[in-house]
Amino acid sequence: MKERLVILGGGESGVGTAILAKKKGFEVFVSDFGKIKEKYKQVLINNEIEWEDEGHSEEKILFADVVMKSPGIPDKAPIVKKLHEKGVKVISEIEFAAKFTKATIVGITGSNGKTTTASLTYELLKYGGLNVALGGNIGKSFAEQVSEEKYENFVLELSSFQLDGIETFSPHIAVLTNLSPDHLDRYDYKYENYIASKFRITMNQTSQDYFIYDADDVEIIKWLSQNPIKAQPLPFSVKKELNQGAFKRNNEIIIKINNKEFNMPIATIGIQGEHNVKNAMAASTIATLLRIRKQTIRESLEGFQGVEHRLEKVLKIHNVMYINDSKATNVNATYFALDSMENPTVWIVGGVDKGNDYSELLPLVNEKVKAIICLGVDNQKIINAFGNVVETIIETDSMAMAVQVAYKLVENNNTVLLSPACASFDLFENYEDRGRQFKEAVRNL
Ligand code: ADP
Repeated sequence: MKERLVILGGGESGVGTAILAKKKGFEVFVSDFGKIKEKYKQVLINNEIEWEDEGHSEEKILFADVVMKSPGIPDKAPIVKKLHEKGVKVISEIEFAAKFTKATIVGITGSNGKTTTASLTYELLKYGGLNVALGGNIGKSFAEQVSEEKYENFVLELSSFQLDGIETFSPHIAVLTNLSPDHLDRYDYKYENYIASKFRITMNQTSQDYFIYDADDVEIIKWLSQNPIKAQPLPFSVKKELNQGAFKRNNEIIIKINNKEFNMPIATIGIQGEHNVKNAMAASTIATLLRIRKQTIRESLEGFQGVEHRLEKVLKIHNVMYINDSKATNVNATYFALDSMENPTVWIVGGVDKGNDYSELLPLVNEKVKAIICLGVDNQKIINAFGNVVETIIETDSMAMAVQVAYKLVENNNTVLLSPACASFDLFENYEDRGRQFKEAVRNL
């Protein structure tokens, strides 16, 4: 009899998994409690895959042999609880799909910098001539790309939710970019649970594999000192020289693996800021391990212009640069954005607060920010946090207004930075919508 795979969630990862599973001979059923997007419905219909939306038919779900749950669905969802009670295995797309490929897998996780590091790594490997695809939380689903059977390497951006649903998944090269509290509502409000979830990326690695991580991150170092890993560690640091790994020396990035060194002047890297030096270190370490030539790595790092909504330079108007960092949905990301500002900055901030502690931003705000424009439904916490540090704080409730106000406040050589440190759901559909509205408002000035 065919194995029955039930897929909860008819989005990118769910539909990709359905395509792969159908190809591999599973009996597949897709069920989504919400509405499935039209484009995904069409794919399911074209592939003759049974599906339902706007509800779960328990009788069709509970007798599954295995269930693939989309990363967006929490463990406390009633249907998932019932599956757990019945002892049905519930896994993630990554776990399911990895079994059907022999490709070399690079897995990238962390609280911030996943997309940037994954995209940069993908560019380095592609430019270096490898047959490589980019997937996971980015672009086309990993599962669907596995079903195409044409890639020898995958670069995967992995969220903690994807990692929660793995059992045997093991990337040959794993990266942990950094740790800062995020998504704690899914982890019983315990930071240590979230950290443990991120480290699952290395739990099945062997001594033939590599684990790349930020050696300046105290939480990472603490966890590693208490939990041995099997993979070969390759740290990176912007603060100290290392015997093995990536570090800074005389304004250059050095990658040192088995006493072989690669160097790259930091000033020539296409993406700027200390955090991007770290991202470049991680990506170059991966490229070096996969034997991409030094000159190719240098050229790709020079050419890479970053990813949309991540410190994206939009326009210069009357000598004022407008920067879109809408993807900064937590304090840590905004910290690095402010840190990389070189001119007096008008800072647009706010949205849905995820339990933010703004105190770590105070010194940077004091030094760099000349005015704050709040863009959220409830701005009180921001006003309380920075009221004593910044003289001008103005509340707005639309992007057009925020940008207009910024335009009135700036002087020659200032920067306008949208880096909200908050989620976007109060005024926008998502962070992409927020970033696009910012760019449009800037272009309309
Ligand atoms: P993720 O995919 O993990 O959310 P992104 O690459 O999309 O990461 O970046 C998210 C936000 O974090 C952006 O505002 C970006 O400028 C910032 N950021 C990027 N890399 C880092 C890093 N290494 N450390 C801290 N913040 C970063």
